[in-house]
This record gives sequence, C-alpha cells and structure tokens, in this order.
Amino acid sequence: MFNKIQRKLTIQYAFFFLLFVLLLMAALYISISAIMQQQQVQELELFFGKERYHLEKDDEFKEEHNKEDQITDGKKIEYDANRANFYYIFTKNNELVHGDESFYGLYKDVAQLMMHVEEEDPQTVEWKDQDLLLIKYDSPHSHNGSYMIIGQSVTKQHHLLERMMYAFIALTLIGTLCIAFLSHYLAGKAMVPIKKSFERQRKFVSDASHELRTPLSVFYSSLEVLENDDENRFSAFGQEVLTDLKSETQHMETLLEGLLFLARFDQNKLKTKKEDIELSELVNNITKSFERTLPDSIQLKTQIADGIKFIGDETSIRELLYILLENATKFTEKGSIRVSLTSINNYIKLIVEDTGIGITQRDLPHVFDRFYQATKNRQKKGTGLGLSIAQAIVSHHQGHISVESEFGQGTKFIVSLPILKKD
Ligand code: ATP
Ligand code: MG
Repeated sequence: MFNKIQRKLTIQYAFFFLLFVLLLMAALYISISAIMQQQQVQELELFFGKERYHLEKDDEFKEEHNKEDQITDGKKIEYDANRANFYYIFTKNNELVHGDESFYGLYKDVAQLMMHVEEEDPQTVEWKDQDLLLIKYDSPHSHNGSYMIIGQSVTKQHHLLERMMYAFIALTLIGTLCIAFLSHYLAGKAMVPIKKSFERQRKFVSDASHELRTPLSVFYSSLEVLENDDENRFSAFGQEVLTDLKSETQHMETLLEGLLFLARFDQNKLKTKKEDIELSELVNNITKSFERTLPDSIQLKTQIADGIKFIGDETSIRELLYILLENATKFTEKGSIRVSLTSINNYIKLIVEDTGIGITQRDLPHVFDRFYQATKNRQKKGTGLGLSIAQAIVSHHQGHISVESEFGQGTKFIVSLPILKKD
C-alpha cells in the first residue's frame, strides 16, 4: 500500500513539475522569438525609411530632368549576397520595376509569396532553404499602385531558436527525471513515520482482538453455565436478558475473529495452505447444504462446470463462499440466487448473483470497506466485515473481486482467481 502511495506521489510530483516547466519554457520561447522578430521588424522599418528617402530623391531627379525610368531589363536587379536587407519594387500588375537582392532569383517568387498579404504586416516565409522576413509597403515611387517588398533572412535566428527549443526540451526532461528521483526519495522519507504509526495501529488491533478473545469465550461459557445451572432461578425477563447477552457475545466473537483475520492479513501473517481443491465439488456441496437453509421464497440456481480444480486454502475458499451466499440470502427477501463457476484459460470465475434489494450507487464503492454497511441495510444484523474478509481471501489467492448492483434489482459479485501452480 505504501509503495503504491509513494509511486503515486512520485508520478504526481513529476507530472506537475513537467507541466509547470513546459509552460514556463513555452512562455520563454514565445517571448524570446517575439522579441527577436520585433527587433528584425524594426531593422526592416529603418531600412525601409532609408530606401524610401533615396528612391524619393531619385524620383525628384527624374521629374526635374524629365526622364523616364531608364533601368534596362538587365539592370533591374542588383544582386549582392553580402547584403543584409533587400527590397523589390513591383507595379500594380506584379511586374518588377527594380530591386536589390541578396538571394539570387528571389525576385521571381517574392511577389507570389506576398500576394495575399496585407501591407505593413510582417510575414515569415520559407523560400528554398531560407527563412525570410518580408514586409510589403506602398511604394514611394510615383507609379500609381506600385508596391515595395523589403526583407531580410532570419534563417540564422530560426536555427538558433530551434536549437534553443531542443535544449529546453532536454533540460525539461533531465529536470523531470531529477525531480522524479528526488520526490521518490522524499516521499519514501515522509512515509516512514506514517508507516510506523500504521504498523503500531495494526499491531494494536491484532493484540486487542487476541487479548479480548479469551475473556470473551470465558464470558460466553459462564453464560452457558448460568443458563444450564438452575433455570428456575430466572424469571422470564431474566431468561430474555441471558439470551440477549449470549447473542451479543456471539456477535462480538464473530467480530473479533474477523478483526483478527484482517489484522493477520495486513501484517502478512495469514497462515494459509496450498491444497489441491476439487473446486466444482466443493462449490456444489456448499450450495447444496446452503439450499436447505433457504426460505421457500428464495430459489437457488447453480451453473457449476465439472472437474474444476484449484490450488489454495480450502478453509478460506469455503469462508469466501459462505460470506457471499450469506449476503445474497440476507439481502434477498424473495427471488433467486444464482451461483456459477467456470474456468476460462488460467482463471476461475465464480459468480454469486441475487435478485435482492441491491446496493445504491453511493454505497457501491464502499461495500468492501471495513465495517461498512449500506445505510438502508443497517437494521440487518452483521459486523460489516464480511466483504473485507472476502476481499482479503481473494487477494491472498492473487485474485480479484468486484461487485455490480442496481438498487432494487439485485447484486452480482464476481470473483476471478488465477489457477496457480504448486511450488
Ligand atoms: P457481516 O458480513 O459481517 O455479517 P454485513 O453483511 O453487513 O456483515 P458485508 O458482508 O461486509 O457486511 O457487506 C457490507 C454491506 O454491503 C452490507 O451491509 C450490505 O449493505 C451490502 N451488501 C453486501 N452484499 C449485498 C447483497 N448481496 N445485496 C445487497 N447489499 C449487499
Ligand atoms: Mg455479510
């Protein structure tokens, strides 16, 4: 149980740490890339400012001297690989007027790349193996409707961000592993005093049940002696009190037996045998003898496969069956109880199903809890330990028990037990 809690705590701590760090890293990554882009856009805006100044000067000169744009086809583009920023001017029909480029041949695609982009809206686009930051502006040229695209390469920055992201992920994973180890260690440390006090509590329950058993049986025997001694000395009321005392003492004895069994189970001190059990025969015999005790209003139906063998503790398996059958009888006024036993692969499936009062969805998750009795059934006599004991028996045989129920319709207990080998 403690190992399970420790593992759960470790996973929870590691998960929350991972989530927290991932969010932090994502925020960091987004802010760094936003700051970088902002800076690049500012650079481009500055560049645009300068270019516009030169181009406007150019235009003024041409107008003064009444000159047309004389740039010949061959001179439309000036290519210089060392240039940090580049620009292109296009007519409104997307024909290149002129430009300075840093990537050979980009002028052929750049208009297409920025076709549907709004003006002054920075765009990062991929072109060949380059990442480019481009901005479209209204051209300062006198040509009506012409536009200008300016840009710079952001490939290096993108590579840097990519490497940074990988480093972030690696750091996060390493950090999570460290936190997982650390929290496993700390959870283990924190568990030590809890474990100790839990063990002390278990030992106390075990010792108390053990110690109370002897005086209780002495008490019970004394009541029997009293009852058999001289009956005439008791009035009718005295007799009634005596019978009540005996019944309560018996109830307490059952309770103590149950507690002792569970205490031994908790402390791994349950002494059980590994016997060859003819399970089909055993279930048949128990259900038959049980049938005799049933009132006429309840029918018992069985579906027991022949020849199923099982290795386990016969007394415990008997006890398990009694607990389930007793509950089915106790909580069914009229209707039927169905017992089925089958073997599938290496598993044995035992089902005890009734058409009784059923269990509410609120009570259902708690029926295996110690001393738990559904509110509606409290008036029925019992200790509330039966199903806890059944669960302990099943778990001791490495099996699993579950319950399905519909309030007012009935209840079904399903036990699956692995067919173990004798060592
Ligand atoms: P004890 O078994 O010690 O006599 P109990 O029967 O009350 O007492 P459990 O066997 O542990 O205790 O069952 C716990 C509770 O689960 C019961 O009080 C009852 O409310 C509910 N329960 C168990 N089996 C059935 C069933 N077949 N039908 C309806 N309710 C059930
Ligand atoms: Mg019971």
